[in-house]
Amino acid sequence: MRLQDWDTSDRFAATLIATQRITPPGSPEEVRELMFEINRPGFSASAGQSVGIIAPGDPALGETEHFRLYSIASLPEATTGGELRFPICVRRCDYIDAYNGERYPGIASHYLCDLQVGERVRMTGPYGDLFHAPDDPEAALILIGAGTGIAPFRAFVKSLYFRQPRFGGRVRLFHGGRTGVDLLYQNNIHDDFALYYDNDTFEAIRVLSARPHWDHEIDWLAALQSRADEMRDWLMKPHTYIYVAGVESIRDRLDAAFAELVGSPELWRRRKAELVAGGRWVELLY
Ligand SMILES: Cc1cc2nc3c(=O)[nH]c(=O)nc-3n(C[C@H](O)[C@H](O)[C@H](O)COP(=O)(O)OP(=O)(O)OC[C@H]3O[C@@H](n4cnc5c(N)ncnc54)[C@H](O)[C@@H]3O)c2cc1C
Repeated sequence: MRLQDWDTSDRFAATLIATQRITPPGSPEEVRELMFEINRPGFSASAGQSVGIIAPGDPALGETEHFRLYSIASLPEATTGGELRFPICVRRCDYIDAYNGERYPGIASHYLCDLQVGERVRMTGPYGDLFHAPDDPEAALILIGAGTGIAPFRAFVKSLYFRQPRFGGRVRLFHGGRTGVDLLYQNNIHDDFALYYDNDTFEAIRVLSARPHWDHEIDWLAALQSRADEMRDWLMKPHTYIYVAGVESIRDRLDAAFAELVGSPELWRRRKAELVAGGRWVELLY
């Protein structure tokens, strides 16, 4: 992603008012929830939108500014003073140089994870507007979030149940982490989605790796198969909408899992094409 591909001319300051690690101490992954406050009358954001963060660039890479996007993890709420507060959820990323094998810190994610309360960052946006709840009382929503891909769904589920009183459809949220401790917002520190469990239309399904070790992949097929009858039924219905968020690599894995579930890659290819054409398959992958 290059800074010049985005309109970042309208920049504003955001103050960090809280930062909390949301992966438990035993997890090798560090994901933090950062709560920002902005003084920006007229700012609004919907579920699935992201803000841009302009971190100081690495001169060695020839950049003075380093721009990255982060999903808004809950819709902005006004303080009594009129400021707006909203969280983002950041995974501390490192990458390994293919030539020398050295580990390099991801610039924006380390900058954000290391910020101290009271510090200010330069922000832009919001960008994107992908996740709209269908105006269909019988809608069946399959939400699939891997890792930090859960962030937009927190905002989405909340807006469905608290801001759209007419929404009467059903929701299945498949939320993946490699191990139980990596499940953001649904581990023994956080269980955000418990809030919705008394609503019998909502169910959050935890999806783990087949073997609970950090370098094994999330077992999407096992998760879908744990609801096989319901999922096959929903996939054939005209009221079903599928929303997927998280890292790019889940696209192929999900395709393989859905193909297995419906019976063949060809059947899934056709079904997915219909969903995409009807605007009923929505992706936020990065
Ligand atoms: C629309 C959109 C929404 C996003 N929302 C979020 C979000 O809510 N939370 C979040 O943490 N990130 C999110 N991202 C990813 C984020 O923008 C950055 O790409 C990520 O934080 C790495 O940036 P960096 O500057 O730290 O790494 P850089 O210095 O740019 O280094 C990038 C390297 O880090 C690795 N990397 C980048 N992203 C990931 C990842 N997610 N998982 C594993 N390895 C990775 C890759 O190996 C890559 O080569 C989103 C991206 C997009 C496009």
